[in-house]
Amino acid sequence: MPKPMHRSRSFRRLDRVARSGRHVLHYERKKPSIPHCAICGSELNGISVSRNAKGKSRKSNSRIFGGVLCSSCTAEVVKLASRIENGEMRVNDIGTRQRGFVLQMIAH
Ligand SMILES: [Zn+2]
Repeated sequence: MPKPMHRSRSFRRLDRVARSGRHVLHYERKKPSIPHCAICGSELNGISVSRNAKGKSRKSNSRIFGGVLCSSCTAEVVKLASRIENGEMRVNDIGTRQRGFVLQMIAH
């Protein structure tokens, strides 16, 4: 029976043959998934998914909504927020996915 910690599915199993010819299971943490934009779902650039990435700037962007939204969606949110602040648009005219981020921009 495997150790209790190895019964978790957060470990992936690797089938290996030992030098003695015995079949053994090796356990390894799963690789982290690539972060995606919260609005359009595209993969985010400039973020290391390596498990041993050092430093804050390698793990996220310093831009507003960095590490959450892609650059084009961020630009769109900034544009919509300024239009609402100037009274050219209303909050109800914005799509539901962008609305939360636009409201955050205005409150900021
Ligand atoms: Zn996006």
